[in-house]
Amino acid sequence: SAKERGKNAYHKYSAHMQKAASERMYLQNELNRALVRNELLVYYQPQVNVTNKKLSGMEALVRWNHPKRGVIPPDQFITIAEETGLIVPIGEWVLRTACKQNREWQEMGYAPVRVAVNLSARQFLKKDFVQTVEGILRETGMQPEYLELEVTESTMIDVQRATQTLYDLKKLGVHIAIDDFGTGYSSLSYLKDFPLDRLKIDRSFIRDLKKSPGNRAIVATIISMAKNLDLHVIAEGVETSDELDFLQEQMCEEVQGFFFSHPLTKEDMESYLKEKFSKPGIS
Ligand code: C2E
Ligand code: MG
Ligand code: MG
Ligand code: MG
Repeated sequence: SAKERGKNAYHKYSAHMQKAASERMYLQNELNRALVRNELLVYYQPQVNVTNKKLSGMEALVRWNHPKRGVIPPDQFITIAEETGLIVPIGEWVLRTACKQNREWQEMGYAPVRVAVNLSARQFLKKDFVQTVEGILRETGMQPEYLELEVTESTMIDVQRATQTLYDLKKLGVHIAIDDFGTGYSSLSYLKDFPLDRLKIDRSFIRDLKKSPGNRAIVATIISMAKNLDLHVIAEGVETSDELDFLQEQMCEEVQGFFFSHPLTKEDMESYLKEKFSKPGIS
């Protein structure tokens, strides 16, 4: 009967909900201990200059190496970390790790290269956030000009407050990038008020570039707008040579994506540095 079927569907649904809830609870508890158990890792994805194809920077991307589940991508735990507030210590750990690593590579003799670190709203909105960044720069000896902080439009909803924090960060000498640009719903007017250095064109516009005249128009417009606003511009999620060709024609400065490299472990990034950009003084 229909009633029976409804009842079955309800049971299925509620079993599904229960499973999802207990999975969440499990991850939440595990994440609590992930930092102290040293289970978090930072991967680095190369950013490449379109003109000379050289490494221009890298983005630090967190991973969770769970003892039972293996490597868990951020999409599966960042939301939980944000909701529980754990994103604050986790984000701080990523920032410190990326700065330390950057210094270490410089000390090993590699040419200095910019590293970009993602910030979540919860971190950015903490009263002592700028002091935290300042402390990490001091503690690690990281030169601020090689550090770029990535924020999203949704982090900047309180424009007045965001503007103040960004200016305070700029005073430290770090760079600011807007991540996932073009996917937020905020007005464009903030672009002239915020002290920004770079726009990162969201991956969703790069995907289907070949098939979608709309995406081509949007990407071309973002690139020329960035130039007119005197901002640097990088395209995320570049996977094919066609995409790269189009971006080159449009005079996009930099790209990041699987076409050049997936995010790499620290060890693989070190091999990448060794291979592509041989150490000065070592042949
Ligand atoms: P995001 O900051 O926009 O980072 C770029 C994401 O795109 C990365 O996913 C990267 O692996 C992926 N990607 C890069 N090139 C390509 C490509 O050619 N094709 C495809 N399909 N994907 C590509 P990932 O590492 O899984 O990170 C996802 C998101 O998690 C990040 O997006 C960022 O929003 C967040 N995240 C990562 N690390 C951190 C962190 O330390 N703190 C915070 N707050 N968020 C982080
Ligand atoms: Mg990012
Ligand atoms: Mg992005
Ligand atoms: Mg993102």
